[in-house]
Amino acid sequence: MVKSKVYYLDKPNGQFTVKEEVLADPKKGEVLVKIRRTSICQSDVVIYKKGLPRIKEWPAIILHEVCCEVIKIGAGVEKFSVGDIIGIGCDLPCGDMDCIYCGRKGTGDWTSCPNTHATGHEFHGFARTHAVLPDWFVELGPIKKFKESINLNYISQMEPLACCLEGMTRVNNCIEDRVVVLIGAGSQSTYALQVAQAKNARKIIVVNRGEERLNRVLKDFGNENTIGILWDSDVVQKVFEACKPFNEPHFVMMNVPHQSGYELATQLMGYNTVLDAHAGVKGPDGKPAIYHKLDLNNDIHYKLQCFQATHGSSMHGVNLASEMIANNELPRLGKMTNDSEIFGKDQILKAILRADDKDSLKVIIDWDR
Ligand SMILES: [Zn+2]
Ligand SMILES: [Zn+2]
Repeated sequence: MVKSKVYYLDKPNGQFTVKEEVLADPKKGEVLVKIRRTSICQSDVVIYKKGLPRIKEWPAIILHEVCCEVIKIGAGVEKFSVGDIIGIGCDLPCGDMDCIYCGRKGTGDWTSCPNTHATGHEFHGFARTHAVLPDWFVELGPIKKFKESINLNYISQMEPLACCLEGMTRVNNCIEDRVVVLIGAGSQSTYALQVAQAKNARKIIVVNRGEERLNRVLKDFGNENTIGILWDSDVVQKVFEACKPFNEPHFVMMNVPHQSGYELATQLMGYNTVLDAHAGVKGPDGKPAIYHKLDLNNDIHYKLQCFQATHGSSMHGVNLASEMIANNELPRLGKMTNDSEIFGKDQILKAILRADDKDSLKVIIDWDR
């Protein structure tokens, strides 16, 4: 028996209220975890401000980027032991062991399953000191073990890094030794910048409207191959200029959840360019249609353009992200979070509001504080 403190958000724009709940020992196949770190996603900011159609039950337990410690295991659990430090992805298999997407013999494309669900959305999030993971979650879910020496703050960022890596690896041969353009300078672009550096991109061009965040990203993550461009009326021309001696970028990642991001991204398509439509656009009235005229013969066939997208992450991205963190392939990950971006568990609202600031990159809640 463990007493868990659960931080319920009563409604969008509401308050967090703590409730103490008694958790029984984990049953067969289950695992009881203690939350050590959570990081704040921009989707948490949106959920806080406006709610989300996917969250049907209020009060809600939000937050999905998490690093936990296994403190008790149920009978029959062999994958995990007490004391294991784990990172957990957000998108979940549906729980049906025979599902062709999520099951034991499934493709692993969970986000294509009609019954897909996610932590902090349909499934309770991690704004709580302890949680029990059900048996199907333990067996098939996006859980990765880490060595004790790995920084817990990094482990809580496995999930957003996994989403980024899904987008950067769906199409081959567009990052290594290539010109990469990142639209936006938020956390997804900053992960992508570090990944592109780790994969030896030839040049990385970061485009952003706000100067403050662009400067922070360039200062802390820039290198001789990184160029920052302010998004003004000449941005298209400036990006093409920066691609020289190439005529166009090889990979354009659209990380701005706004129609203008697609309008810019599509103007940057050249010969052999891959567009990763990474940020979806959602408004208070749902997901607007955004049209773009495309010549399948001249653009797609003869120019080899590729329009693709990923959202969320499967085991593919989770595996890649956990390897990059475990092997310290992103040595500047710690700079995503400065002293003004670390909070304690009784400061969830403050943390979310800090994540909404224009200069903020990655806010972390340290549950050990
Ligand atoms: Zn996230
Ligand atoms: Zn399924």
